[in-house]
Amino acid sequence: MTKQLNEQLNIEMKKSQDTSQELHNYSQTLEEKIKERTVDLENIHLDLKNKQTNLVLAHEIAGLIPWDWNIKDRKITLTDKLNRTHLKNSDLHRAKLLSLIHPDDSEHFKTEMRLHLRGLTERFEATYRVKQYDDKWYWVHDIGSVILRDPRSKRPLHMVGIRRDIHQERQDQERLKLTASVLQQAAEGIIILDEDFKYIEINPFFEQITGFKREQIIGKHIFDITENYKARQRSNHNQIITQIMQNGIYDGDVTEKFLSGKKTAIRFHINAVKDEQNRTINYIGIISDLTEQKLQEQRLSYLENYDKLTDLPNRLYYHDQLHQYLMSQKDSIQQLAIIRLNIDRFRPINEYLSNRGGDELLRQFSQRLRLVTSEAFIVAHLNSDNFAIVYEVSHIRPSINEHCERITKALHTPFNLDDQEQFITVSMGVSFYPEHGRQIDYLNNCAELALFEAKRLGGNTVKIYSNEMSRVVDESNQLERELRHAIHNDELIVHYQPKVYFENHKIQGFEVLVRWQHPTKGLIPPNIFIPIAEQTSLISEIGQIVIDKTAQQIQIWKSMGYEDIRVSFNVAAQQLHRGNLLNTIDTAINKYHISGQNLELELTESTLLENSHAMKKTLEEISKRDIQISLDDFGTGYSSLSYLTDFPIDILKIDKSFVSKIGQPKQEAIISAIVTMGQAMGMTIVAEGIETAEQLNFLNNLNCHLAQGYLFSKPLTETDATKFLKMNSA
Ligand code: C2E
Ligand code: CA
Ligand code: CA
Repeated sequence: MTKQLNEQLNIEMKKSQDTSQELHNYSQTLEEKIKERTVDLENIHLDLKNKQTNLVLAHEIAGLIPWDWNIKDRKITLTDKLNRTHLKNSDLHRAKLLSLIHPDDSEHFKTEMRLHLRGLTERFEATYRVKQYDDKWYWVHDIGSVILRDPRSKRPLHMVGIRRDIHQERQDQERLKLTASVLQQAAEGIIILDEDFKYIEINPFFEQITGFKREQIIGKHIFDITENYKARQRSNHNQIITQIMQNGIYDGDVTEKFLSGKKTAIRFHINAVKDEQNRTINYIGIISDLTEQKLQEQRLSYLENYDKLTDLPNRLYYHDQLHQYLMSQKDSIQQLAIIRLNIDRFRPINEYLSNRGGDELLRQFSQRLRLVTSEAFIVAHLNSDNFAIVYEVSHIRPSINEHCERITKALHTPFNLDDQEQFITVSMGVSFYPEHGRQIDYLNNCAELALFEAKRLGGNTVKIYSNEMSRVVDESNQLERELRHAIHNDELIVHYQPKVYFENHKIQGFEVLVRWQHPTKGLIPPNIFIPIAEQTSLISEIGQIVIDKTAQQIQIWKSMGYEDIRVSFNVAAQQLHRGNLLNTIDTAINKYHISGQNLELELTESTLLENSHAMKKTLEEISKRDIQISLDDFGTGYSSLSYLTDFPIDILKIDKSFVSKIGQPKQEAIISAIVTMGQAMGMTIVAEGIETAEQLNFLNNLNCHLAQGYLFSKPLTETDATKFLKMNSA
């Protein structure tokens, strides 16, 4: 029994053990299952979370604010940038929103909303400005839709939407609009190319430059619109492209022939536009039309070297060429002949013919002279009726006598002026290099002395320089003596010619002009005695007298209340070289208690020809005293523009010979060029010798500053000048 029972118990125990094992197994599986599930769930959760973050990110990037409006319960849920949801009373929210919307936009917002809620529009959509925390207006775009309506009444129950910040977009758009209008209006060609150098955009001015319409250009390669036939053209274009690709920039002047038939000098300035990764995405180019500039340059260089009347090289060019020739050919030149030529009795002929006829004579004369001197090294027109011719002398060439004979003969045949025959004769003076000297100035002087001698003998003759010619100098000694006497007797007086502003014809000041009040011969103009005085020390004495009288008069005017009166005085080259000009000026300023601003110094370009250090120093000293420096007779003969930058010059005085030619298109072009250039360099422009309203008008249109001439007044005595001042001051 016991044994049986024991067995029974064992079995039961085993069973129970099995069950317990089974149970254990089961629970383990369950546990694993749960674990698996949990992981799954966690993954799902994570995934969801990721997706949500993405969405927030997307909203944030797009500046989106989703909203959910439960219309029935008057509740609205807003999701902010940080993905926090805010539940609000929708009536309050609406009131708040309306208070923040720009007054100009709120009506639009309300209307759109009303229409959609009534079911009259497919969806709600409005663009409006809202005030942000920083009190600034920001543009937003709001879009939404009713998703639930009462099936029977169709009343809206639920609506969702998204609001988007479009401020940046708007600003970009406006900037684009602005850029576009700049493009439209620019007075320069502007182009935008893609990374393959194809036109994406161009402006109207570029159409003008190229002669093509926009549609004909867009999409084409940069040089598809220009000629590429010649190897030179192709290689130029390749060079430009290579440079841009290598350096990201090209800057240069080229002359392009466009396939439209237009040929233009242009300045290219092309820049590569890069993105943050430094990849080229576009090219932007500015193209300036250089045609006008080139023309001006040509005009000016011509003006610098050639005489307009005769088309012959001018004095400056003559000096330059001769100088260079002597320097470079020093060893190979055997002998040179320098001929100074002058037309006999030119002044009476000129007066008889009137100015225009005189000019025509000079023109024909120069033409003939050029034809007959084809073997000369240079033929130049120095001034009025003075010419210079230079020949190389050698055994195989005709002698100088033969050359001179040919010239004389050719000029003997009468000139035809206004269907009238005009006979003229010429005088010539010759000097030789190296016999008479090795320096240009000296050789020129010798030739000039020989010319004087030829004239003294009655003209129509050729004289070769010889040492006896110092006699000529004796003669001028006679005049010098007389002049000295005049200075001693106080026969020199000064007149004042007014200068007025173009804009209102009010007086700015005067130019002081010297005259010789001769006891028997009457009033002698400066042109007669200044040249002689210049050759002697007398010019310094005259200068002293003029400056002293001027300063004294300025003191009187100042005491009358014309504090800012300005008087300019003329200074000859010799005065700057020999005289103690600075001393004279300082003495006058101190003696009469005037200031440098009351004075202005006029000098001519020929004075500056001798570009010496001492001269520059003197002028700088004068500038330091606040005395303005004016370049007189500008445009005649020399006109080397380098003076304008080398010396402290404030004022350009356009010569009256130019002003008198206003009405002739070519001359007018030259005047415009001079004025434009002077203005570009910041100079005050004075025009002298204005006699007619037409001249005044032309110069006024060029925006010249000051006018002087008989149209306003002739040079006046002190008394008359004071009257003029009283009548015409501002
Ligand atoms: P400039 O400096 O060119 O002076 C202008 C000359 O043009 C003056 O002649 C003046 O009377 C004249 N003029 C002014 N307006 C008109 C006009 O509308 N039409 C015409 N046809 N002429 C006009 P002026 O007084 O005979 O002087 C001749 C030159 O003598 C001056 O030319 C200047 O180079 C020189 N000069 C005059 N005074 C002095 C002086 O004190 N010192 C020096 N070194 N030279 C002087
Ligand atoms: Ca002058
Ligand atoms: Ca002048």
